Amino acid sequence: MKPGTRRGFLQTALGLGVARPLPAADAGWFDRPMRWAQLNLTEDDPANMDIGFWLDYFKRIHADAVCLTAGGVVAFYPTQLPLHHRSQWLSGHESFLPDLIGGCRKLNMVVVLRTDPHATYQDVYDAHSDWIAVDAQGQKRRHWEIPEMWVTCALGPYNFEFMTEVTREIVAAFKPDGIFSNRWEGSGMCYCEHCRANFRAASGLELPRTSDPRDLARRQYIIWREKRRLELWRMWDSEIRKIDPNARYIANSGGGAMSGLDMKLVGEMAPTLFADRQGRSGATAPWANGKNGKEYRATLGSKAIGGIFHMGVVAPHRWPDSVQNGAETRIWVLDGIANGLRPWFNKVSGSVHDPRWLSVVEQIYTWHHRWERYLRNEAPIARVGMVYSQQTATFYGGQQARQKVEDHTLGFYQALIEKRILFEMVHDRMLDAAHVDRFKVLLMPNIAALDDRQCRQLSEYVQRGGSLVATYETSLYDEWGGARKDFGLADIFGVSFRSRLKGPIENSYLLVENGNHPMMAGLEDARQIIHGTWQLDVVPTATFGAPPLTAIPHYPSLPMEKNYGTVRKTGVAGVYTREIGRGRIVYFPWDIDRLYWEVMADDHYKLIGNAIDWATNEEKPVTVTGPGILDVTAWRQKDSMTVHLVNLTNPMMMKPRFREFIPAPAQQVRVRLPEGFKVRRIQLLVSGAAPAIETSRGYVSLTVPSIADHEVIAIDFA
Ligand SMILES: [Zn+2]
Repeated sequence: MKPGTRRGFLQTALGLGVARPLPAADAGWFDRPMRWAQLNLTEDDPANMDIGFWLDYFKRIHADAVCLTAGGVVAFYPTQLPLHHRSQWLSGHESFLPDLIGGCRKLNMVVVLRTDPHATYQDVYDAHSDWIAVDAQGQKRRHWEIPEMWVTCALGPYNFEFMTEVTREIVAAFKPDGIFSNRWEGSGMCYCEHCRANFRAASGLELPRTSDPRDLARRQYIIWREKRRLELWRMWDSEIRKIDPNARYIANSGGGAMSGLDMKLVGEMAPTLFADRQGRSGATAPWANGKNGKEYRATLGSKAIGGIFHMGVVAPHRWPDSVQNGAETRIWVLDGIANGLRPWFNKVSGSVHDPRWLSVVEQIYTWHHRWERYLRNEAPIARVGMVYSQQTATFYGGQQARQKVEDHTLGFYQALIEKRILFEMVHDRMLDAAHVDRFKVLLMPNIAALDDRQCRQLSEYVQRGGSLVATYETSLYDEWGGARKDFGLADIFGVSFRSRLKGPIENSYLLVENGNHPMMAGLEDARQIIHGTWQLDVVPTATFGAPPLTAIPHYPSLPMEKNYGTVRKTGVAGVYTREIGRGRIVYFPWDIDRLYWEVMADDHYKLIGNAIDWATNEEKPVTVTGPGILDVTAWRQKDSMTVHLVNLTNPMMMKPRFREFIPAPAQQVRVRLPEGFKVRRIQLLVSGAAPAIETSRGYVSLTVPSIADHEVIAIDFA
């Protein structure tokens, strides 16, 4: 954007963005690994595992990095620390871990060693009962799966002292490239003597007994807990680097709005990070792995991000030794790859109880290795950004964050996938020009909690020509979830808040007043459509044209004899659209995004799509036309660009487990080329077909004949 500047002009003209102005990848090994292997070792592995089998497999699949369990719950080497539990299968197999590490080093693999501090044994309890986590009733917590073990306190001396010793011993003994900790942040709230005393010293308060984030002690606790975790992260990192300056601590942490640690800080601290979302269950969409990639990238920028997956059914109950259909594993991993994640398989135990997954991973990894140069992405191409907000989830959503915050995001996300729009996620604490001006439009799915600075940044973004599509209570609260009198973005929306209608509201509609309005494309013949279940009463303060939709208030639906409304015309707008300079604003004073996720009414899909199209007001960098549901992403590499098409057209009607692929029929693809670049060659990296192409005035057009699960259009520049 930035009208009038050369860079701004180029960005707008190309729609390709420039390399993101986020922290560059650190020098070091962090950007080298493209394919990760993880063995989550089990205590019996030293005696039972076939090391040669795994080294052979790693080599065959071109894995270039490995994560191996070293210590914490079980020490897989002859530890000298008295309370560090040695594997009971270590005797006679003392060289197990060094042999395994040595074999991986010979394959030139990056080696990261894993620790897990969350559980311990009776001898630790006997020696240091204060290291054990305590519940709200004051009871020391037994482990929920193995009652003879104990849950540890993450914020006290067990982690700060004992696990620091463990970490030092492992780094000194094995010189790994990094230490990766699982379950290091604690297992729920701890009321132990250390947590009580440390919290009191920091805040002057007792530990909260409520989970309401508006409670002062709870808020202070959330802040203190994060500070303490970051302190631990920094301390472990610094202790590791004292022994080996090239090694780093890499926490298992991160995610979207619902994740714990501030992703902006995480993005600054972590030299690389691993998105731990191993598979799906319930109503999880197949694009959820890619979403994770986008969320991490929002704050990690061009740093490498691994995507941890499991080959079995691990949720809702735990079966780590199961193997799921290969189609399900493929679609999950491929959507991650299409969204910039570097694949990382997690195998629990060195024993192969069921080998069916081995060839699935081998196929993905060997393909990935073959085309690696087209998968070393430099920057995504997208003109739409969707904001996510951890502070909104924490302080406005609280215990209801899933429904009040995340479901809004998921509704927009699904609509963006269906519309095949290239987009990125944007962290709400990174709304400065350097991070948002590459986008023509920012989506604000009920981003309720925003501080004054964030509102000002959004307002300035609009002044520079950016567009917004916002819903429901966006900016109606401050950063602590405290209600504002009016929207922080009232001047931008052109409306003021009056009241919140009691919800959830059933049987309420929107009357179509003007089918020719740009918001109504595809809805020209509709007479009325479903209104939101959560609605705000707002009053316009700016001048708006005649609204395309007006509210029909709730009326009874039962008994059915009473299903008639007496008020059919209120004149109250269902959507507010306005232009501010070159910026375009769409504000829905209701939960269109959340309701779309819940009900998926086609009319709401069209409305959301029209809102984004109208606000974007320029031709898309990539257009894909044809039947089916595809996740479309596009990337720049050093001398090329790629367009990924992931076929999410789901052959299963109900539960989300792919068993076969139903190939998507032919898709017409039109790609905008970066200015001044000439096409040398176009390949389809999955089917191997050589498509006929047409180029004209900066665009290339081609037909992708059919997509089983994934296709990548790779465009080499001359
Ligand atoms: Zn504690």
